[in-house]
Amino acid sequence: MTSALNILRNTFGYDSFRPPQGDIIDTVIAGGDALVLMPTGGGKSLCYQIPALARPGCGVVISPLIALMQDQVSALQQVGVRAAFLNSTLDSGRAREVEEDLLQGQLDLLYIAPERLTQERTHALLQQAPLALFAIDEAHCVSQWGHDFRADYLQLSLLHEQFPDVPRIALTATADKRTRKEIIQRLDLGAARQFIAGFDRPNIRYRIGLKQNAKQQLLRFLQDEHPRDAGIVYCLSRKKTEDIAFWLQDQGFNALPYHAGLDAAIRADYQSRFLREDAVIMVATVAFGMGIDKPDVRFVAHLDMPKTVEAYYQETGRAGRDGAPADAWMVYGLQDVIKLRQMLAGSEGSEEHKRAEQHRLNAMLGLCEITSCRRQSLLKYFGEHLQHACGNCDSCLDPVATWDGTEAARKALSVVYRTGQRFGVNHLVDVLRGSEAERIHQFDHQLLPTYGVGKDLDANQWRSVFRQLVARGYLRVDMDRFGALCLEEQCRPLLRGEENIQLRRDAAKGQGKQRTRTA
Ligand code: ADP
Ligand code: ZN
Repeated sequence: MTSALNILRNTFGYDSFRPPQGDIIDTVIAGGDALVLMPTGGGKSLCYQIPALARPGCGVVISPLIALMQDQVSALQQVGVRAAFLNSTLDSGRAREVEEDLLQGQLDLLYIAPERLTQERTHALLQQAPLALFAIDEAHCVSQWGHDFRADYLQLSLLHEQFPDVPRIALTATADKRTRKEIIQRLDLGAARQFIAGFDRPNIRYRIGLKQNAKQQLLRFLQDEHPRDAGIVYCLSRKKTEDIAFWLQDQGFNALPYHAGLDAAIRADYQSRFLREDAVIMVATVAFGMGIDKPDVRFVAHLDMPKTVEAYYQETGRAGRDGAPADAWMVYGLQDVIKLRQMLAGSEGSEEHKRAEQHRLNAMLGLCEITSCRRQSLLKYFGEHLQHACGNCDSCLDPVATWDGTEAARKALSVVYRTGQRFGVNHLVDVLRGSEAERIHQFDHQLLPTYGVGKDLDANQWRSVFRQLVARGYLRVDMDRFGALCLEEQCRPLLRGEENIQLRRDAAKGQGKQRTRTA
């Protein structure tokens, strides 16, 4: 029998295992069951591909991602692995050939869609074939608690009864405990060894900056740091992906838009160009990325803030799967918060659901606003403790100055209160700065005690104060009143003088000159 390490080197061309791949592979080769929890890009595929090659018989991979089977199988065939798939896209003639190959022992790996596996015909087929293992990919689909529940996955519990001698390996990137428990219970994996790999992606450098002129900021980032790299730029709206993609094309980049509104054929074409051509930049909504295996994505840029930390982690996780340095770069501003809150307010679902979403959004905002190590905070969200600051995020590399914003915050909260919690940030800043704008006089706001008390800060500094107060939950954006800011309960101690607040000092606008392109 060829050793696992030999297969890794000779077939896949890699030098060494990433922890805990080696242990997982040993376990399965020895015939044991395994539950593997590893973040996206961690290297789950090899955990079943290598045992499938090392053990006699064919490895059966159950995957719900039918659209990706062809790609996975082609990639395996290219390195000389005898792989095939069975799903609804095959005509019956081709399916019969695959079945024949399986019975003849001509296959190392067979990918099957879950709904197919539960058919009587497939079942009978597998009973007659020599099997190396069952790999249950995206195992969280068995959980009704999660978002991806698939009824067909429930049937997979039968594998254990029907094929007691075939080891099973269940894999997922979904972390939370409850889902894990459900996987173990429903797939009868109580005796399986569990492998939980860390969520840290040390080669990714996290940076979250203040949105000033997002397009120019993106352009500068690309020109300075990734002039010839493949990457993904995430935007919230379909229209924006197109605007940005075409604009980047004008700037000389090989950029393509991608969103669910595009024709399926166009999407498939763009996706394959992203995978196969060099230095393609995909400007996409969140519709893009699930299951995309491109190891050399050098950056993921966010022009709009994701709604949750999970989404941020998953999207940024598509960078640097090859382990080489990669950037997770984002710009965000008060408008993002307002837009996301608006979307939440307008979304369907119970009050309880909305509140939960609100909490998740707040956690994301917290990550944007922290002044300490971003990685520590990100991992903490997933229940992992990183002992030291990472040295590879913007907070670590370029520590943010903070300032005592207590006085400013009080003025900001008080102007919100005095104006009746009915105005948006621009007007509030005008009042604080003592502006002579027409709207001020229209509402007699020049008569307020807070009028003009904030001349010590400029408009951007005030905007920064308001943004941070919203992000930290002192102020709320009222969507029913066109983005008016309202006080939250939490601001009482601050107003009463019982609490102080440290704020981020945002880099001044215009800092870091905007480069003009020398074409
Ligand atoms: P996952 O399924 O966990 O998202 P993949 O199995 O697709 O991750 O692996 C992600 C990338 O890492 C792939 O490009 C893969 O070839 C690469 N990879 C996996 N294991 C290793 C390894 N031991 N050495 C080098 N590259 C690896
Ligand atoms: Zn750090």
